[in-house]
Amino acid sequence: MIRFDIISAIPDLLTSPLSHSIMQRAVDKGLLDVQVHDLRSYGLGRYKQIDDYQYGGGAGMVLTPGPLDTIISELKNQRTYDEVIYMTPDGVTYNQSIANRLSLHGNIMIICGHYKGIDQRIRDIHVTCEISIGDYVLSGGELPAAILVDSIGRLIPGVLNNESSALFDSHQDGLLAPPIYTRPAEFKGHVVPEVLLSGNDALIEAWREKHSKSTQKSEE
Ligand code: SAH
Repeated sequence: MIRFDIISAIPDLLTSPLSHSIMQRAVDKGLLDVQVHDLRSYGLGRYKQIDDYQYGGGAGMVLTPGPLDTIISELKNQRTYDEVIYMTPDGVTYNQSIANRLSLHGNIMIICGHYKGIDQRIRDIHVTCEISIGDYVLSGGELPAAILVDSIGRLIPGVLNNESSALFDSHQDGLLAPPIYTRPAEFKGHVVPEVLLSGNDALIEAWREKHSKSTQKSEE
C-alpha cells in the first residue's frame, strides 16, 4: 500500500488520469491511496492568493512559500514521508529504476509547480527529491505527478492481475519488449510469426529474447 499526497493548484487536472482502469482498481483494492490537496484553499487573503511576482524582476509568477509551507507542514505532522518530491524540469530525469525505488515506499508527497515554479525556500526546507519527466517544459506539475503515480502504482504487488508481468515490461529487465500479437492470426495480409502459434514454450521464449532490443539502444 502506497499513499500519495499531491499538492496542486489545479487538482482537477489529476482526477481523470488516476481514476480509471488499473489505477482505479488499485485504489479500489486498497493498494493505492491518492489524496489531492488544493493549494488554492491555503491561499492568503480574500482572493486566496498563492502566487506573486518574482524578486529581481522577470516575466512569470511564482508560487509563494506561505501556503505551500502550511499544507506541507500540516501533512508532515500527520505522518512521516519517505520522500517529498518536487516535479521540476531541472530535477533528475525519471526512469524505471527511480520508479522501482519509490515503489518500495509507503508515504510519498508530491508538489506540483505552476507558472514559473515554486519559491526556492520550499525546495530548500521541505523537498527531498526533485524529478523531471523529461527535457521539455510543461505548464504544471500535475501531468508529471500523474505519470509518477501511474508508473509507481503499477509496481505495487497485486495491482496488475499477473503480478509478474510488470517484471517483464520494457526497461525493467534491461530489454525493450518484443513485438506482441493477438487475434486474428492474419490481418490485412500480415501474419503472426508462426513460432508464436507453435505452443512450444522454449521456442517462443527464444524468439522473444531474440526480438527484445537492449535498453541501451533507446538512449542513442
Ligand atoms: N521556470 C521553470 C519551468 C516552470 S514550468 C524552469 O524553467 O525550469 C511550471 C511547473 O510545471 C514546474 O514548476 C513543474 O512543477 C512543472 N513541470 C514542467 N515541466 C516539467 C518536467 N519536464 N518535469 C516535471 N515537472 C515539470
